[in-house]
Amino acid sequence: MHAHESIIDLIGDTPLVRLRHVSKGLAPTIVAKLESFNPGGSAKDRIALRMILAAEEAGLLRPGGTIVEPTSGNTGVGLALVAQQRGYRCVFTCPDKVSADKIAVLRAYGADVRVCPAAVPVDHPDSYRSTAARLAAEIDGAYSPNQYANPANPDSHYHTTGPEIWTQTEGRVTHFVAGVGTGGTISGTGRYLKEVSRGRVRIVGADPEGSVYSGGTGRPYVVEGVGQPSLPRSYDPEVADDIIAVSDQDSIGMTQRLAREEGILTGGSGGMAVAAALAVARGLGPKDVVVVLIPDSGRGYLSKIFSAEWTQRFGFTDQPGSGIRVGALL
Ligand code: PMP
Repeated sequence: MHAHESIIDLIGDTPLVRLRHVSKGLAPTIVAKLESFNPGGSAKDRIALRMILAAEEAGLLRPGGTIVEPTSGNTGVGLALVAQQRGYRCVFTCPDKVSADKIAVLRAYGADVRVCPAAVPVDHPDSYRSTAARLAAEIDGAYSPNQYANPANPDSHYHTTGPEIWTQTEGRVTHFVAGVGTGGTISGTGRYLKEVSRGRVRIVGADPEGSVYSGGTGRPYVVEGVGQPSLPRSYDPEVADDIIAVSDQDSIGMTQRLAREEGILTGGSGGMAVAAALAVARGLGPKDVVVVLIPDSGRGYLSKIFSAEWTQRFGFTDQPGSGIRVGALL
C-alpha cells in the first residue's frame, strides 16, 4: 500500500511547471515552483517543520509544549499542522484587521487565536506582538519560533527547496527568482544553488516598491507577505545578486494573468515574483532556465485581488469587470 504516515510527510517536493503564456516572446525557459502543493498550501510549511524539529532537538520544545507566535498567515497554518501532528498546542496572536477567513483557517486546524487591537503602537502592552511575548512568558513550556530570527527558516530552504530545484532542472537552472519577505527563501535556496553550481546560478529577489530590500524607505504597499520596513536577521544580504522592485500595479496585474492564462491561482506576491522573473528573462537567451518560486495559492485573496470592487477601489484596473490590466513591465 502506498500511504504516507502523516500529512507532514507531504511537505516539500513541490512541482515545477512551465509558464508558457505570460512568457510569450521571451527566449529562456521559464518555470514556476508551485509551493501551494504543500499540505498547508504554502512554502511556510517547510520552515514550520524545520523550526519545530530544531526546537525539539535543542530541548526548547518538550512533549505537550505550546507554540506561541504573532502570526495570522501562512506561517501560522504551517505551524498549526506540524504542531498538532507532533503533539503541541498553538497559540497565535494577530491584529484585528486580519480577515475573518484567515483566523477561521487557523482555528480549523485547532489553533487558539487571540485577536488584538490593530490601532495601538507595536510596543503597547495590548498589541499582538506584546501579547505574544507576554503569553510566551506566562505559559508553561511555551516556545516562540520567530521566523524573522530563526536560522531554521533559511536552513529549511537550503536543505529542501534548493536541492529540489537543482534536481528537477537537472542542473540546468541559470536564474532563481523569489519574493523576499523574511528573506528565508532567497537566502537558503540561493545559498544552496550558488554552492552547488559554483557561483553560476544568478539569484534575484523580488521586492514591493517602497520596501527596504530594493532601497525603499518602508512606505506602505498593497502586496502581502513580502518586503520589510527594516532588514531582519533571517535575510542574508550576501546571497542575492540583484533585487528588483515591482509596483503594486504590476504585481496585481500579473497575479490576475497567472490565474486566467496559466491556470495558476496565487497571491499578489506570486504575481510580483513572476513579473520580476519576466523582467530578468528579457535580457537572456534560449539556453537560460529561469526558476521562479510561487509561494502560495490565491484562495486567501479572492475578496481582494480577484474582486472587481477591490481592484477598482485601489485603482488597479480601468476596465470594470475584466479585472485585467497588463503591467508596465510587459
Ligand atoms: N516568494 C514569494 C513570491 C513570496 O510571496 C514569499 C513570501 N510569502 C516568499 C518567496 C518567501 O518569503 P520569505 O522571504 O519569508 O521566505
